[in-house]
Amino acid sequence: MSGFNFDNTYLSLPGKFYTPVKPEQFKKPEFSVVNRDFFSALDIDFGSEDEMLSILSGQSLHKNSNPFAQAYAGHQFGSFTMLGDGRAVFLGEHLTNQNIRFDIQLKGAGRTPYSRGGDGKAVLKAMLREHLIGEAMHHLNIPTSRSLAVIKTGEDVYRETINDGALLARVMKSHIRIGTFEFASYFGSKEDLEALLHYTIERIYPAIKGDKNPALRFLKEVMRVQIDLVVNWMRVGFIHGVMNTDNVSVSGESFDYGPCAFMNSYHPQTFFSSIDVNGRYSFANQPKVLKWNLIKLAQALLPLIDTTIENAIPLAQQTLDSFDTIWTDSFYTVMLDKLGVENKTVNDRHLADEVLHLMEQLKLDYTNTFAALSSEIEPLTAPLTENPLMKKWLLRWKKRVAQNSYGFETAKKIMKNHNPIFIARNHTVEKALDEACDGDYRTFNQLEKILKSPYSYHSGCSNSLNPPSQEFQNSYQTFCGT
Ligand code: AMP
Ligand code: MG
Repeated sequence: MSGFNFDNTYLSLPGKFYTPVKPEQFKKPEFSVVNRDFFSALDIDFGSEDEMLSILSGQSLHKNSNPFAQAYAGHQFGSFTMLGDGRAVFLGEHLTNQNIRFDIQLKGAGRTPYSRGGDGKAVLKAMLREHLIGEAMHHLNIPTSRSLAVIKTGEDVYRETINDGALLARVMKSHIRIGTFEFASYFGSKEDLEALLHYTIERIYPAIKGDKNPALRFLKEVMRVQIDLVVNWMRVGFIHGVMNTDNVSVSGESFDYGPCAFMNSYHPQTFFSSIDVNGRYSFANQPKVLKWNLIKLAQALLPLIDTTIENAIPLAQQTLDSFDTIWTDSFYTVMLDKLGVENKTVNDRHLADEVLHLMEQLKLDYTNTFAALSSEIEPLTAPLTENPLMKKWLLRWKKRVAQNSYGFETAKKIMKNHNPIFIARNHTVEKALDEACDGDYRTFNQLEKILKSPYSYHSGCSNSLNPPSQEFQNSYQTFCGT
């Protein structure tokens, strides 16, 4: 069997959930990046490079591929809109040898019935960025979309400037979003909503199939996986940047890496996206926005939670009310892991609060401070040893980790798994992408290699540890012009 092992269960949903559409025929597709390890991991083996390029650029149709664009809606910056795949075409569901199912989607594959005013295209820099961040997240052990390849289409794409057009062959466990449920709730019948819930549970949460209230249980599961996801974003200093409900997957995978970025100096209100003018999606707002997004999912599910709305609302409310406690417990568990604290209690939480506060005051680099604490990089950076308040905190922290079963040794072990040393620093990412767009992939390849083992220190890569200058940090913005 060559290539993909396609199945098409999504097409069993009512027709309003998708529209058949073929990828555009591009003039002169060529590979920019091929993620060969990922092909092997998914048991995908094409007979030849030509065949692989032809399928992944949408020039020919793979066996059992019935391409379509998915319908969905969503709340964008708080306002409800009908959306859908405006520039993505779904090729099929690939089944690995272990029967694990993955959506294969071409992003940037041309206009679809959901394109509204858009051109259906994507630009090379943005697709390389999405590929790179997907790899970075995966190797940080965070559930994420990944890509099999980035392909140049050979066409110009017009944004503020003229850009090389590109496609991203994107892979996710599922592209079903909170926005898919909102679409069903606003534009479908109760039967449509029920069909979507049934399909999603069958596919993503088979363990809850027999639950007496599947809709409520599903809401709880999405809350659980999304809290776990966002807490891990915070662990590594990641800011997604567009946490609109159409970009929140119900399987708990992060995806749609547009204006996202990693934080350098710690400040809870950090955001980079030029369109996020009020910092709605800033670093520390992410849990609040997640809760808001889950409320939108709960609202969409109400007719399935109970036959009468009077009964459904308190049931949904009760679940949503548990968000704060679950979030707080998860957040401090992760932050205290970052500090190497074993057998955590509520009394230990102040250690995390205090160090974050000090980092904010001293404008310390988030990644490097935690890495320095785990003594991966010696000697400790000056602000850690010179500032009197930090010195006091260090003493208290050391006293606490001395109570671990093997003292500082246990602490180091825990910290090593939770504190990355290498992150995708914004200035390096920009340099790598700009050079790659000019045909020089050396920085891009080197960065990608470093990001594949972010928790281990590699000598010879010390340049990649440095945060950008304060001037760069103050002016750095990310753009949606994708
Ligand atoms: P995003 O901000 O990438 O999550 O996209 C939000 C919505 O805009 C989705 O429905 C996309 O399919 C759509 N979209 C983004 N860029 C384009 C484009 N160039 N052409 C058509 N639709 C687009
Ligand atoms: Mg999106």
